[in-house]
Amino acid sequence: MKLAEIFFSLQGEGKNQGKPCLFIRLAGCNLHCRWCDTGYALGEGRDIAPDVILEEVWRRNPKLICITGGEPLLQEGELEPLLASLSRKGIPVDIETNGTLDFRRLQPYASICMDVKCPSSGEMSDLLLLGALRPEDSVKFVVSDKADLLYATEVIGSYRIAGEIFMTPVYGTDPRVIAEYLLATCLPVRFQLQLQKIIGVK
Ligand code: SF4
Repeated sequence: MKLAEIFFSLQGEGKNQGKPCLFIRLAGCNLHCRWCDTGYALGEGRDIAPDVILEEVWRRNPKLICITGGEPLLQEGELEPLLASLSRKGIPVDIETNGTLDFRRLQPYASICMDVKCPSSGEMSDLLLLGALRPEDSVKFVVSDKADLLYATEVIGSYRIAGEIFMTPVYGTDPRVIAEYLLATCLPVRFQLQLQKIIGVK
């Protein structure tokens, strides 16, 4: 597999925000978001056997794992047996994905945290994937301006989304503008700041 890094930290976003979590960041991505904050994970990474990753997991004995990137689904073939091993041990796993690749094959092993890319990112997710989400999955809109908010509003109004929906300001933008919009519209979302940026952990 192509690995960018493995590290232990607090989960900064999503339904497990604030929980200690082992992050497995896979390398490589099929998008180039304007505000990408993990540019170091877009390259080739280092080759590593899935068994070596699993040894590291067993050594650290985490209560929660997040597989992130980059775009982890680019390595779906090798990811599936790794997830099956984690599942057999009963460790809960979240997979963070940019919403451009079909994740259904991996859902038996993990919760999906699907990004819906907004206009300010310069990229676009596959909105048809929203219909495959289950209640235990989730969706995240990272928004920076009014155009993003209007886009998110349109998507939320147009698609059946079974999982919880999070709305997060791009770090550095004024979160009050987003908060005021959500209060005015009462969109069915949970507002969330990126905890890892605020407290300065990875
Ligand atoms: S999908 Fe994620 S990792 Fe890929 S370019 Fe966008 S923000 Fe960066």
